[in-house]
Amino acid sequence: MALIQIAEPGQSTTAHQHRLAVGIDLGTTNSLVATVRSGEVDTLPDVDGSHLLPSVVHYGEGEVHVGSRAQQFSVSDPWNTIVSVKRFMGRGAEDISGKDEHYSYTFAETDSAVPRFKTRSGDVSAVEVSAEILKNLKQRAIKTLGDELSGAVITVPAYFDDAQRQATKDAAKLAGINVLRLLNEPTAAAVAYGLDTGNEGIIAVYDLGGGTFDISILRLNKGVFEVLATGGDSSLGGDDFDYVIAQWINEQADFSDADDPAFRRLVMQHARSAKEALAEHDSIAINIDAQNGAWQGTLDRSKLKDLLTPLVKKTLMSCRRALRDADVENEDIREVVMVGGSTRTLIVREMVAEFFQCEPLTSIDPDKVVATGAALQADVLVGNKPDDEMLLLDVIPLSLGIETMGGLVEKIIHRNTAIPVAKAQEFTTYKDGQTAMAVHVLQGERELVSDCRSLARFELRGFPPQVAGAARIRVTFQVDADGLLIVSAREENSGIEASVDVKPSYGLNDNEIESMLRDSIEHAEDDMHSRTLREQQVEADRVIEALDSAIASDGDQLLSEDERVQIDNARQVLVETKSGSDVDAIEQSIKQLEAASEVYVSRRKNTNIKTAMQGHSIDEYASEQSLDAKAAEAKVEE
Ligand code: ADP
Ligand code: MG
Repeated sequence: MALIQIAEPGQSTTAHQHRLAVGIDLGTTNSLVATVRSGEVDTLPDVDGSHLLPSVVHYGEGEVHVGSRAQQFSVSDPWNTIVSVKRFMGRGAEDISGKDEHYSYTFAETDSAVPRFKTRSGDVSAVEVSAEILKNLKQRAIKTLGDELSGAVITVPAYFDDAQRQATKDAAKLAGINVLRLLNEPTAAAVAYGLDTGNEGIIAVYDLGGGTFDISILRLNKGVFEVLATGGDSSLGGDDFDYVIAQWINEQADFSDADDPAFRRLVMQHARSAKEALAEHDSIAINIDAQNGAWQGTLDRSKLKDLLTPLVKKTLMSCRRALRDADVENEDIREVVMVGGSTRTLIVREMVAEFFQCEPLTSIDPDKVVATGAALQADVLVGNKPDDEMLLLDVIPLSLGIETMGGLVEKIIHRNTAIPVAKAQEFTTYKDGQTAMAVHVLQGERELVSDCRSLARFELRGFPPQVAGAARIRVTFQVDADGLLIVSAREENSGIEASVDVKPSYGLNDNEIESMLRDSIEHAEDDMHSRTLREQQVEADRVIEALDSAIASDGDQLLSEDERVQIDNARQVLVETKSGSDVDAIEQSIKQLEAASEVYVSRRKNTNIKTAMQGHSIDEYASEQSLDAKAAEAKVEE
């Protein structure tokens, strides 16, 4: 989640000579390369005139095929033909086990943290497969332009985390490409349109590709793009359209061999061709004639609409959430940029137009718009365009906060806050005499520490003992332009400080982020209950603490045996109810304990006054009361 500068003033040196830089859209389904030539930006075709390179790699006998040549093998040799490799970038072996039943390759048994595909040419990682695609595009650029390549801007989904971004960089390195910068795909699309029209206002970028859906809400203002919110679904795209259509074909045809991987891919290919043709035609004939089965039928737009509506609705739910996160209404959106091949499907355009109540922008080819924006930025970054200066602000994907008593999380920076940002909040001590505080930094939307992700812990030690609630500890969260979080804590009365550096997105992939968000919505009610329960339990602990420390100091003098037994009984009831989950019962027990100790409390007050009159201050008395500092630390740090 780095701050992305479209142009760095220092890098925009006056270049005398044009340097070759390209933009690469490394897509799940298709990849493209684009460049700026004589002030014109365009994607580059291969020798056959095709701009889109299918992101497919085939490991053949002694040679590796990429693109449509590799695609030809996806039916005849599925095990050695890797498609949608982007879905595996930066993923650990544990992320893929058992999921995604519509892939038909095998993974090698390996100790390595990274999954490796078993192929005829040995086991290969997602990085190596992606590198093959990048090499192919690099060759295309060099052949077409007859020049050395200075560098490339490669695009990644906005949701990509550090590991996925790093994997993309590794693939580029393996392909011998100098990465000028990784750029978020929706941002690239915004750059492509923003530079063309110079429009200001809030825009939505709706990117429905083959394997992923991304929605981004951007604010475009005087050449500055600010990402207000991002959202989406990392496993929803045209592949799923194909899957739904293939299922329908299977039902219509009643194929008995529908599970055979090669046949399944064949049916998927027919589904996809039919879907794509329906962008132009009202209906299309499907003719499957294979050993495993034969079927002839027709798919028309209205049937397609029935099949795809639930999937498109799912994307609109993500849009609604992103709008909410950005704190804007549907009608605030001035423009909707359509990105990705799947936005060619009519029903997608219609439903998006209806949702945002405006006609989406499609003037730049939705396949090419990302590569186009990337090329424009690459051109700026190598210094071919001296004067551009655009800044893109990024957002925090999940809320950041610290642990408070009772295992609760207090959020300090909320998700989707634009970075850089700094926010501070004051906390206090829980116990008398406490001289240390443990700061536990967490990430996530849930209320309980156990449901959030732990990022770091540190301690603030050695501030002077004070009564509970008197210390003022200011905790500051600062997220810099590169997404690096620094958390610092300062006890204001003494000036004692401590801090820690954290990487907020460390180890989180997009699926995890998504599932954490989903969880927070699903568990909102439970969480509310847990929160009140914990708060009540903390309160019970506090009452017991205070009572115990009072009794330890003067219980013997001030209480009769009978009174003592009554208080002890009430205390015992509270100890029992507080370990349960009945919030009302805990509240009741607290009240009962307070009632039982009422006489004792007033007797203590009188004694206090007497003590004070004998030349002792109440303050002194309070500090006698305080627990020894060591014990307090131990409790709070556990
Ligand atoms: P990615 O960003 O995942 O690489 P693309 O933006 O290239 O994906 O989009 C690929 C998807 O677009 C595929 O699912 C493909 O079937 C779909 N697609 C391409 N052309 C059309 C079309 N004319 N109508 C509907 N879908 C299309
Ligand atoms: Mg794409």
